[in-house]
Amino acid sequence: MAQDHDSHDRHDHHHHDHDHDHPHGSELSPMDLRVRALESILVEKGYVDPATLDTLIETYETKVGPHNGARVVARAWVDPAFKARLLQDGSAAMRELDVGGRGGEHMVVVENTPEEHNLVVCTLCSCYPWPVLGLPPVWYKSPPYRSRAVIDPRGVLAEFGTVLPAETRIRVWDSTAELRYMVLPMRPPGTEGLDEAALADLVTRDAMIGTGLPLSPDQGARA
Ligand code: FE
Repeated sequence: MAQDHDSHDRHDHHHHDHDHDHPHGSELSPMDLRVRALESILVEKGYVDPATLDTLIETYETKVGPHNGARVVARAWVDPAFKARLLQDGSAAMRELDVGGRGGEHMVVVENTPEEHNLVVCTLCSCYPWPVLGLPPVWYKSPPYRSRAVIDPRGVLAEFGTVLPAETRIRVWDSTAELRYMVLPMRPPGTEGLDEAALADLVTRDAMIGTGLPLSPDQGARA
């Protein structure tokens, strides 16, 4: 639940981004250069097959992303039995839809209701449910979001343009390497006639983090 300090020493620390300016004439960032250097050494020494690396990168670029989470949410909206399984064991239910993998082994899905809105953060670093949401947005990893989401969740939501009724409680979930949370947003009104695919189009990444809400049907009808 919120603020599980015991698990902090077991956090992932894969995302130590350092965005400095480097006026050194190279178009590649220092991080890019390091990655390239590392890649060539690994390939040279025969530790990795370049084709495997390409597959891995392609996976993260095309197969892994918020569309996976959106499919899960849309299914939960149309299938109450699936929704029950999803809330009981997120990872197992997601596997039914072929969603899962590294970083998604222990997914906990928290349901928004008129009474309670859920917001996901990782206060220590950037633990994030990659298999369902892809790579985390920059703000998710930023210190202001990580600290203020806990101290002033309603203020943070307002900055995202998400204003909830005053009587709606906001519950903040602190992700760890072991437990990653995804929000099941409420199905928007006026979507009774939509099929599962059309519903999935309304489910944004931010709606599954809790900083946003799903699109309404007219917003979702993208040309
Ligand atoms: Fe983390």
